[in-house]
Amino acid sequence: MFEHIQAAPADPILGLNDAFRNDLNPNKINLGVGVYKDEQGATPILKSVKQAEERLLNQELTKSYLSIEGAPAYRQAVQTLLFGEDHNIITKQLAQTAHTPGGTGALRIAAEFIKKHLPEATMWVSNPTWANHQAVFQSVGLEVGSYAYYDANTKGLDFEALLASLSQVPAGDVVLFHGCCHNPTGIDPTPEQWYQLAKLCSKQGFLPLFDFAYQGFGEGIEEDAKGLRTFLEHVPEMLIANSFSKNFGLYNERVGALTIVCETAEQTEAAFTQVKRCIRTNYSNPPSHGSAIVAEILNSKELRSLWEMELKSMRTRIHEMRSLFVNTLRTKGVTQDFSFISKQRGMFSFSGLTPDQVAQLRKDFGIYIVGSGRINVAGMTHENMEPLCDAIATVLK
Ligand code: PLP
Repeated sequence: MFEHIQAAPADPILGLNDAFRNDLNPNKINLGVGVYKDEQGATPILKSVKQAEERLLNQELTKSYLSIEGAPAYRQAVQTLLFGEDHNIITKQLAQTAHTPGGTGALRIAAEFIKKHLPEATMWVSNPTWANHQAVFQSVGLEVGSYAYYDANTKGLDFEALLASLSQVPAGDVVLFHGCCHNPTGIDPTPEQWYQLAKLCSKQGFLPLFDFAYQGFGEGIEEDAKGLRTFLEHVPEMLIANSFSKNFGLYNERVGALTIVCETAEQTEAAFTQVKRCIRTNYSNPPSHGSAIVAEILNSKELRSLWEMELKSMRTRIHEMRSLFVNTLRTKGVTQDFSFISKQRGMFSFSGLTPDQVAQLRKDFGIYIVGSGRINVAGMTHENMEPLCDAIATVLK
């Protein structure tokens, strides 16, 4: 029965991680997969997370199932983080949130929900976008199209082309926006541009789906929610897939959420029952531990302020590495302009390195970068900066 099955191609990002692990070069550097690294190159457990876990270990009384949508304290904490304290979306109960296994789980449930209830809708994603988006939406049979985003000449946002693309999207389709820290480019719309996009969305009548995987990695927790909150001033309906993999460092606990916003509390309640059906036939109900950690931290004044400090220090370290990278390349005699990298936000940048240069960096220097030239800036440290920039200067010659 299985004889005819061909091997699937390796995942372009996770496959790179496997190759890195097997590389015997002692000086290898991993700028591939999107995981935060500290100055020592480690992905540590946050102190706030460890302290929350200690509390949970003492308090936990049962391992019985959670409900389909997850724990109430977690779901409430997610909404406060997304919308801000006492937002009218919360007080008027216009949103319902389900805990999902990571941001990917939220996107997958959103995809199934869209396919079932808006079967004619096309999904629109930015060009480029996170490598998994297209596959997740196609896996439920949705048509996926792309809208203009990145300008390879300016290494910035092509806002005119973006507006022109989205002006062609008809009512009833769904448009995915990266809430902040666009993956893979690191380029986000400005507040004024978010405003124009929100107005356009309202005029065209398409449904926004916000993928919010990096809240707090750009400018700050509140600042990074600006785009999403601006949209909510102009459109009555939205889907939000958020993740706590990065901002809490809870990658392997699989903790994220899908939030649905409708025009009235009754509509939200009804639509949410359908979200729960998708979950029930998928993984039935979520795992508990990761969401309990997030809820414990966000609902404790002391742990929350510790987490905010830790998040700030991750964000600041990445900003510093961006500047150091640009300056070090300059000192190595690289004349090509890389200054755009210090203006970008979040973990990633589109370096502009070609597939050949990426391949040479891997073969000759053990430096791992995604084929598109996307680099994970969080993989840079003071220690690996010199050899990294020497190698890039060599392949650019
Ligand atoms: N969305 C984007 C844009 C991402 O970059 C990622 C992870 O890299 C995800 C979603 C998925 O996050 P998670 O690991 O929580 O499934």
